[in-house]
Amino acid sequence: MDTIEIRKPDDFHLHLRRSELLRKVLPHTVNQFARGLIMPNTRPGPIITNEHVDNYRNEICSVLTKDQLAEFSPLMTIQITQETTPEIINKAEQARAIAAKIYPQGVTTNSENGVVDFRGLYPVFETMQELDMVLSLHGESPQEMVPGLEKEKTFLHTLRMIARDFPKLRIVLEHITTEDAVKCVLELPETVAATITVHHLFLTLDDVIGYSKDSKGLMQSHNFCKPIAKTVYDRAALRKVATSGNPKFFFGSDSAPHLKGSKECASVCAGVFTAPVALPLLCQMFEYLGHLEDRLEPFVSEFGAKFYRLPLNSERICCVKKEWIVPQEYDGIVPFMAGQKIYWQVET
Ligand SMILES: [Zn+2]
Repeated sequence: MDTIEIRKPDDFHLHLRRSELLRKVLPHTVNQFARGLIMPNTRPGPIITNEHVDNYRNEICSVLTKDQLAEFSPLMTIQITQETTPEIINKAEQARAIAAKIYPQGVTTNSENGVVDFRGLYPVFETMQELDMVLSLHGESPQEMVPGLEKEKTFLHTLRMIARDFPKLRIVLEHITTEDAVKCVLELPETVAATITVHHLFLTLDDVIGYSKDSKGLMQSHNFCKPIAKTVYDRAALRKVATSGNPKFFFGSDSAPHLKGSKECASVCAGVFTAPVALPLLCQMFEYLGHLEDRLEPFVSEFGAKFYRLPLNSERICCVKKEWIVPQEYDGIVPFMAGQKIYWQVET
């Protein structure tokens, strides 16, 4: 099969940043996706009020051309901090934020004002449950004594607790990286789903710290992200479940651009810029696993929309099997798999 036509996909986990960076990265998503769930951990300040939600949406829309506006919709989120109240959530819902996101404190980019005490947020979860707003979780333990590689596994206790105490609250465990997370989401009720990124379908920890063949013994800072990629067994579990046709698992790129200088330095920012290569790489992976025809479209274009109770996109998009070399950078941002060969591309 050399071409595949699918319903235009959605990206249910996307970092667009602001100002100059927003202008640089947004076109890459608009080319492939009809909607993106926009993450709220922006700089200078995070999106934590209804005014922020409105302003950020306006900023994103102001960057889009008229044609692009007809083709792409930003789906807004608000960040839950320890100070978030039910009233703030109510107002955010009125501002059409469809999800509220929690970053445990200190685990990733711009998570300084993240959450430590989840029980303290129960009134907020109660309100979200009533409003039918989705809780989106960066699933890593904020506890300092939990080692980095164990943080996702340890966080699953918190996920189980929230799912048990709020049986009608829809929860997404974002960018899962472990077999433990896969098993946990499979066990929990239908209200709990997970997003899977494209880079976690390709990478293991060895591709970050220089033990894989491709890394030639050198640390690969552009593959560094949070949660960090884990073992081949974890990756196999992600590949298996992503192509299993289970509607609890859908696509969220977690495309997280940083300027080259912030990725090629002593203190490297976490995040992989996957937007330009997301759909081509998904085609490649689903083809490799023998599920291009039957399971790619549900994973990228249907399951997420259904979980978020959004209409399915009616537009279609075509991908063709045609080799290309990923550019070394796009406007000062190094993309995932820069300089490497990819076997599929989006037909424009
Ligand atoms: Zn993210």
